Amino acid sequence: MELVEESPYRFRIDRHDPMRVQGVVFASRSLLPDAGADKSLDQVANVATLPGIVDASYAMPDIHWGYGFPIGGVAATDVERGGVVSPGGVGFDISCGVRLLTADLSRDELRSRLDALMDGLGESTPRGMGKGAVWHLTDRTELDGVLRGGSRYAVERGFGVERDLERCEDYGAVGDANPAQVSERAVERGARQVGSLGSGNHFLEVQAVEEVYDEAVASAFGLRKGQICVMIHCGSRGLGHQIATDYIHEMEKVMRGYGIQVPDRQLACAPVSSHEGRAYLGAMAAAANYARANRQLLAHAAREVFRRVAGAKLDLVYDISHNLAKIETHDVDGASRRLCVHRKGATRALPPGHGDLPDDLCDVGQPVLIPGSMGTGSYVLTGVPGAPAFASTCHGAGRVQSRKQATKAVAGHDPRRELEAQDIAVRGASRRGLAEEMPTAYKDISAVVEAAEGAGLCRKVARLVPVGVVKG
Ligand code: 5GP
Ligand code: MN
Ligand code: MN
Repeated sequence: MELVEESPYRFRIDRHDPMRVQGVVFASRSLLPDAGADKSLDQVANVATLPGIVDASYAMPDIHWGYGFPIGGVAATDVERGGVVSPGGVGFDISCGVRLLTADLSRDELRSRLDALMDGLGESTPRGMGKGAVWHLTDRTELDGVLRGGSRYAVERGFGVERDLERCEDYGAVGDANPAQVSERAVERGARQVGSLGSGNHFLEVQAVEEVYDEAVASAFGLRKGQICVMIHCGSRGLGHQIATDYIHEMEKVMRGYGIQVPDRQLACAPVSSHEGRAYLGAMAAAANYARANRQLLAHAAREVFRRVAGAKLDLVYDISHNLAKIETHDVDGASRRLCVHRKGATRALPPGHGDLPDDLCDVGQPVLIPGSMGTGSYVLTGVPGAPAFASTCHGAGRVQSRKQATKAVAGHDPRRELEAQDIAVRGASRRGLAEEMPTAYKDISAVVEAAEGAGLCRKVARLVPVGVVKG
């Protein structure tokens, strides 16, 4: 794949047949995927062939290989001009995302109670592939409440406070969710998992604010140096996975009938306005609400532990997805257009003044939450005016080793002991689970964030370091 370096953090893949638009990769040279081992740059070019795509097929600095679309991919299609929606452009963990809460507690104040706190969090956070969950739904009506109401429904049912919703993307629930488009199999897989982490890449982490880059914005987000925070990363569990699977199959079947050809079957798609397109978006929104309720419930469980063990309170900074397709209005070539914006392993980053921000964040922009790894650190960023890629940025460090490679690389080491030697407490996760998630499996988060900022996608607000992690 030929890349043209346009500026230090921006590379172009020139349009060639059958691409409809160019590809744009935001990265430094050293962050670019290794073409021999990872075909994600080809995937950027493949995505550029989708009907109705506008502007460019974008990739963020944490780009790596994914199903059809690269992880770290952003693509927008014009809803009114035959634009398509592709389940592979959202991914299998629909509305997987991150939530950050601040504690009214400093790292020093927590020190003597850290072990007890981690034990409490380890016990109260259902994890792994098993069935345990914070909320035992009693019937289908409650599940429908979750699918339609997301975090809002969870708060109504006592799992949180009204203010939480102010700090959730879409105020806690995506509109137009259609539980009728969710298969029985998906319901079966999801019914007993509301309020559970899931597997290895998902986590609940106790962190401390290590560095503040912008005092004014950090203070508007409620962050100060030395403060304890909780970061939760999880998604829509078996329910979202099944919905993705169902609709990929469905779209593979009908795609030809709509005259759509794609260079990779994994890019199966249908027009946004078609029966299948609308059905997928309705089911996807239901899964997105499930994912948001999931994070709300895990936060509720964490709050109980913080109150009991440390007498501390947790306030929500923000909750944001990084796997989603959204209908948004953007300026394209001077005209306002309705677009279906796919962000897969990419985070929306609204700039200051954006109408979708709550009043108290309007002047500073949206908190953008970027996990790095359990051994290094994570970042809080914010959106900037006039950014490219439909107000999007990276979603993490991004993998450089497959799970298998990562496991091999730590053979003979004891990952738990290595983390504990760095003063990072670990709960949950098998040895193998930890091995797959060691920092060496990921790109350097600071380099990724530097590239995202250098490319004009976002701005740094604060850096967080891990104190203790509950791993899925
Ligand atoms: P994904 O959604 O692609 O599974 O993961 C998002 C990002 O989370 C990864 O790219 C990685 O940088 C980060 N990550 C994975 N595990 C952990 C963890 O235990 N702690 C933190 N802070 N970040 C993690
Ligand atoms: Mn996920
Ligand atoms: Mn994720």
